[in-house]
Amino acid sequence: MSVPSAAKHPARPSRRAALLFPALCLFGCARDPQPVSGRAAGRVLALTTVGMLRDAVHRVGGQHVQARALMGPGVDPHLYRATPGDMQWLSQADILFYVGLELEGRMERVFEKIARVKPAIPVGERIPRYRLLPVAGVPGQYDPHIWFDVTLWMLAVQEIRDALMRIDPRQSEVYRQNAGTYLRELEALHRWVQERVQSIPVERRVLVTAHDAFGYFGRQYGVEVIGLQGVNTAAEAGAGDVQRLALLIARRKIRAIFVESSVPRATIEAVQAAVRARGWSVRIGGELFSDAMGPEGTLEGTYVGMIQHNVNRIVEAL
Ligand SMILES: [Zn+2]
Repeated sequence: MSVPSAAKHPARPSRRAALLFPALCLFGCARDPQPVSGRAAGRVLALTTVGMLRDAVHRVGGQHVQARALMGPGVDPHLYRATPGDMQWLSQADILFYVGLELEGRMERVFEKIARVKPAIPVGERIPRYRLLPVAGVPGQYDPHIWFDVTLWMLAVQEIRDALMRIDPRQSEVYRQNAGTYLRELEALHRWVQERVQSIPVERRVLVTAHDAFGYFGRQYGVEVIGLQGVNTAAEAGAGDVQRLALLIARRKIRAIFVESSVPRATIEAVQAAVRARGWSVRIGGELFSDAMGPEGTLEGTYVGMIQHNVNRIVEAL
């Protein structure tokens, strides 16, 4: 028996990229591209993968940039595949931002092709390797969930600023100022997270989640992180993983475990049931936003709000 997960989509990234790229060239390589409805005249059209990037581009670009995310609330970037509508947006975009480091596993070949015709910036790949967490057992691979260490995400914001200044130098002073304002906000957020986590008793600073998205959070803020699924949701958690984790939770008397907005809830509920079978009761400490933010227009639909939500849930539950 295995735990239900969303990892059952057929994986054919290379074939799909080959099929989709001619469509891209049809629009993107034409001299007089047809407009995609919704594109605002006179503004840079920046596409991003995850919402956290859209939020950063929106903050740095302000009124001069139209920022649009391909992946909405609750969408798992590890498993995401482009729709024909996405391909049309990609062909029209002036610039693309993605995290890279294999976060958008099924899209990255498409993005590498896009990089031949327009700027496509994998912000995670620009972070110095010594600041990244290697994935155990996979040489050359690094944990892509960089946004959970606010100081790493600040480096990503600087990449976005520099790329917008290159592509639209007339507004470079605006981008520099907007980025400065946002970076000061993120610096304050970083200090707030440090203080909040320090309010949890040291022995209770253990975070158990469905997949290993919180490694950078744990390293930066001093929390032990245990994930059921590893850094990629594409590998399905098996019954053995559930039992191993349940044993650990019962032994260490961990009070709360967390569900994630972009990973099926059933996965972590199976762990809760297995813990109960071992005579310990662990509660679900709420939903954390891991690889996707909340809906646009809500507090959790911004990067700052998402981090605050997660940290508040964690502090309250532990
Ligand atoms: Zn993830």
